[in-house]
This record gives sequence, C-alpha cells and structure tokens, in this order.
Amino acid sequence: MKRIPVAGPWITQKEIDYVTDAVTNAWYENANVYHQRFEKAFAEYLGVRFAVALPSCTSAIHLSLLALGIGPGDEVIVPEATWIATAAPISYVGATPVFADIDPLTWCLSPQAFEACISPRTKAVIPVDLYGGVPDWDALRAVAKRHHIFIIEDAAEAIGSEYKGKKAGSFGETGVFSFHGSKTLTTGEGGMLVTDREDVYQRVLQLRDHGRRPGDTLFWNYEVAHKYKMSSMQAALGLAQLERIDELLARKIEIFQWYQEELKDLEDVTLNYQLPGSKNTYWMVTIVWTPRYDLSKVQLISLLKERNIDCRPFFFPLSSLPAYENSKEALAARQRNGTSYQISERSVNLPSALNLSREDVRYVCGIVRELFASRKQ
Ligand SMILES: *Cc1c(COP(=O)(O)O)cnc(C)c1O
Repeated sequence: MKRIPVAGPWITQKEIDYVTDAVTNAWYENANVYHQRFEKAFAEYLGVRFAVALPSCTSAIHLSLLALGIGPGDEVIVPEATWIATAAPISYVGATPVFADIDPLTWCLSPQAFEACISPRTKAVIPVDLYGGVPDWDALRAVAKRHHIFIIEDAAEAIGSEYKGKKAGSFGETGVFSFHGSKTLTTGEGGMLVTDREDVYQRVLQLRDHGRRPGDTLFWNYEVAHKYKMSSMQAALGLAQLERIDELLARKIEIFQWYQEELKDLEDVTLNYQLPGSKNTYWMVTIVWTPRYDLSKVQLISLLKERNIDCRPFFFPLSSLPAYENSKEALAARQRNGTSYQISERSVNLPSALNLSREDVRYVCGIVRELFASRKQ
C-alpha cells in the first residue's frame, strides 16, 4: 500500500517547461529575466509595491529584522505556536524573542497576549498566519500602532489567504513567504519578502548582496552583509506556480472540505477555523480534540503511521523546545501561555498534500474515526 503524504506540491508540464527554459536560456543578458517576472507578478498578486525573491523565508525574516534596524537589546514578540523559523532570526541579529500566547479559535497570535508581552524594549512583532488562517489583524495592528511596534508578517503558510479582502503578507512593514517543497506554492526551496516601503526595499537589496548597491558592477561593498539569492531555475518554477495559484488554492480548499464532510459527525473535535470576513487557504488541515479522548498527539501520529498515513504534530510551543531551554523568556512563557500548551497537546496536521484524492481522504478519515471511537472515555 502506498503512503499517504502529509504535504507535497502539484507540478504540471507548465512548471517543467518554465524550468527547462530557464536552465536553457536564463544566462548572459537574460540571467535576471525570471527573477524580474516572478517578483513583479508576485507583488501584483499581493497588491504591494515591492517583492524580493530569496533563498528561504528564514532569510526573509532575517533581512526584515536587519532592514528595520533591530539588534542587541531589542525584544521581538512571536506567537508560541509556530515553526522555529519565525523566531530563530531574532537570535541571529542578537535580539531576544518573547513568546506570546495564541488565540483559541484562530490559533494565531492573540492581540491581548501580544499587548501583555510588550515592554519598553519591544521593537517588533512577527504574527503568523498559521496553517493558512489569519489572526484578528485589525486588533493586532491597533496594538502595534499604539505602542509604535513594527509588524513583520510571517505569511509562509498563507499565500492567497485574505482578511477583509486584503491578502495575507500585506499587513506589516514587511511580509514574508516560504516556497519550501511542503508549501502551497513551491520553488523547491525559496522565499519572498514583500513591502510597500521604498527605504526598506532598498536596504534589503543591499543587505542581501554582500553590501553592494543595486546595479553595482565594480564589486564595491559598503558593508559586511549577507548573500541571499534565488536561482533562475527556482524563479521560473515559482512563476509557473504563481500563474496557477487559483488552481492550487482551490485544491487546498477542496481537500479541507473533503475532511470537513468526512469528519462532521465526530464530537469534541475541531478543524481549522475561518475567521468571519477572512479566507483561509488551509495549508495544513489540522484536527484538535478535547481531553474526552484518551489520546496524545504523539500516539495519534504513530497509530496513523502504522496505517501508512503521514501526519505532523501541531507545532510544539517554542518555549518547550530544548533550543530555548536556557532562556529566561521561555521560562516565563511556559507559565503564561496556557492556550498554546493545551491546543498543541492534542492536535495534528492531517495529510494535506496537493496530490491527494477524494479516496485518500476518505481512507484517512475512516481510520481517524475508528481510532477516536476506540479512545473515547
Ligand atoms: C515554512 C515556514 C517558515 C520557514 O520557511 P523556509 O523557507 O523553510 O525558511 C517560516 N515560518 C513558518 C510559519 C513556516 O511554516
């Protein structure tokens, strides 16, 4: 029996043709053609002024922090429940990550928890559009504005998601995306930084190219900086995927609806929430259950694995990870962030790969229903 994958892309002949053209022709005077097309199309899709293609979302967060002047002595607030890539770049620049609790419905940063974590040293916040869902952006932006805090929006998992008709990634000073192979739009590895601010854009261009000014031909470095670039082949792949974005998003939403239909009778279990007035693009279909079931997430993952079903844990709270074992901030967060700890204990990402069929989802849900029935107490 084949394994049912948790995540993976949808590649067609269009992608193969674009990448083949890039590897054949995107050299010499055409070396930057695909980058330019991908960045322009991406900025237009999002409704922002500037987009910079990068090797990863992690590098996009790193550059966002540097371009906004964040460094040693500063604090940056992140949600407890996210991939460590949201927080790690805060340490790269010598600042301190502060972990704030999530909202029990959206699973994204709670505006109240965010405000409660603000100190005189807080310079920025990195809200995450978790699993394709959006936070209460009006409330988050009001808090950030009141306290003069920069927003970096981590939209790695939320290309195409919307809040009140505005696209995810366009709510901060910068927005960042990931095109890792598991994400809805992929370039294999890759990322994008978007912004409406000309000064931030110019700063990012210099910081990502060893301190060279855009257009420099003398290899003249104004500062010691970074080398964060995407290849033409990746940009070609990204452009082809972006031209198919409506189709990719429709499939993600369809997969979620299949799960919704199959699991609708399961009590004390919830799937991803769509905030009223928003569009969730369901990067990962996620199931959260109550203690009424005698089942931990690690148990469910291994039971599903035995039946050839891949899934992933809901993100462990960052403050619970060995990576932050010796952090004073993590110690405080462990006491404070009850919602993150509760949800994370009993929740997994179910198979959400773009190549799943209706039958695959029916099979997964049959097993899930069986396992939950046997663990009901
Ligand atoms: C995938 C992901 C990232 C990191 O993306 P990379 O391209 O692997 O650097 C950052 N934040 C979130 C929320 C992610 O899911």
